[in-house]
Amino acid sequence: MPVRNLTVAIEDAPEKAGPRARPKVGFVSLGCPKNLVDSEVMMGMLADGGAELVARAEDADVIVVNTCSFIASAQQESVDTILEMARHKTDGRARKLVVAGCLVERFRDDIRKNIPEVDAVVGTGELEKILAAAGVTPTPSKSSPFTILTSRPEGDAREAQGRFSRESWDGAIADLPNYLYDEATPRVLATPGYTAYIKIAEGCDHPCSFCIIPQLRGKFRSRRFESVIAEAERLARSGVREITLIGQDTTCYGEDFGLKDGLALLLEKLAAINDLRWIRFLYAYPNKITARLLETIAAHQKICSYVDVPLQHASATALKRMKRGGGADVFLRSIEKMRTTIPGVTLRTSFIVGFPGETEDEFEQLCEFVRQAEFDWMGTFGYSDEEGAQAFALDAKLPPREIERRRKHLMQIQRRISKKRKKALVGQEFELLLEGVSEESELLLAGRTAMHAPEIDGKVFVNDLPDALQPVPGEFYRCRITEAHDYDLVAEII
Ligand code: SF4
Repeated sequence: MPVRNLTVAIEDAPEKAGPRARPKVGFVSLGCPKNLVDSEVMMGMLADGGAELVARAEDADVIVVNTCSFIASAQQESVDTILEMARHKTDGRARKLVVAGCLVERFRDDIRKNIPEVDAVVGTGELEKILAAAGVTPTPSKSSPFTILTSRPEGDAREAQGRFSRESWDGAIADLPNYLYDEATPRVLATPGYTAYIKIAEGCDHPCSFCIIPQLRGKFRSRRFESVIAEAERLARSGVREITLIGQDTTCYGEDFGLKDGLALLLEKLAAINDLRWIRFLYAYPNKITARLLETIAAHQKICSYVDVPLQHASATALKRMKRGGGADVFLRSIEKMRTTIPGVTLRTSFIVGFPGETEDEFEQLCEFVRQAEFDWMGTFGYSDEEGAQAFALDAKLPPREIERRRKHLMQIQRRISKKRKKALVGQEFELLLEGVSEESELLLAGRTAMHAPEIDGKVFVNDLPDALQPVPGEFYRCRITEAHDYDLVAEII
């Protein structure tokens, strides 16, 4: 889980001259892009209410840490960050420390009890409370919360079975989050001006036995179709050229409204927005990828030929224990279908290794599947034992060293595959979104092609460009791949 200190361009935040001093608020956003959007919404509400957003904790009167609580390492990182920021209260200028996000949903009372420097907590379903927490007066016209009351029959059934219960969690309140922002909610982008995430849904109804996200984020609910389009149009007008749709499961989009193939319909509509250049979605659920969705991706140039489908495992018996279903054969057939329907499609997935009871044979099935499937991008996580997840009660837990051995082994297999696939791109031409000077060297520029989702995939380094060209970050250029490494590419602008 990447740590992100938000460097917010102050000119992005609307100016509001108030009768009293504007509190300076600094944000640290941890975890995934879904959490980042929550941070952006909270920053928008604060800026709208008259706060000044600052990029450095040293300059802040109020520091907000938006936490992640997905797995143990993310919880630890969140606690470490809170303690680090608490020092600005004892030794620096900060007057208030606010903790927001998933850690609050999991350990609300414990945070208040054990970290006395924390002045307020804000759960994932109560983002508007950031205003009172930071001492900012709300502007009711824009900042009113948008609470969704739709649900899917699957979600209702799983709720009745106790899927969302937090009763066994000390320090958590019983109420599930039920909030989702809309197009009228103020939002300050923390991403560069040419790219933005749009959260199209929140929560998750799936029963995956290793996962506590449904208890942390609540039942699945979608944003209204028109709300997503209105936000995309506004972003496009403000200069955004790349939109990445996110949610815990984007492929269920619209099912709570009774919409069939909602994501495909949404993508089609977004592709008609003139100023957008690249549109993609992340986090597809394997059995929710329909023929219509694939055909829609194939039919529109603006929709990136890119499918991110976290499969979690490939052994049918391990997947059954994970409460996910599927297996190597089904997945290989589905991958084949994606590759025939969308020629040149880029495929990303992620796996969990060392799930309780994972035998050598099941692990080998996973390795063999990875060799056959030849993904373009792949992430591997070692199993993390989460209290409150069903898998917590399973026997046959694997020792951490063995989990790590398996993780490294699987990534080694993927490294060879990645190298081969990247090598095959040498000599080919692509559209490149230039991002600026590379973090690795001032002598190189860096960018992405449609094969690269923001922040998670490798990079394209640019080491050559026409003499007369003044490269501009956020602009698109034609490039030719000249070199390939394990994960990264080198290109020339032509
Ligand atoms: S689909 Fe994803 S978010 Fe939902 S329960 Fe499974 S792993 Fe968790």
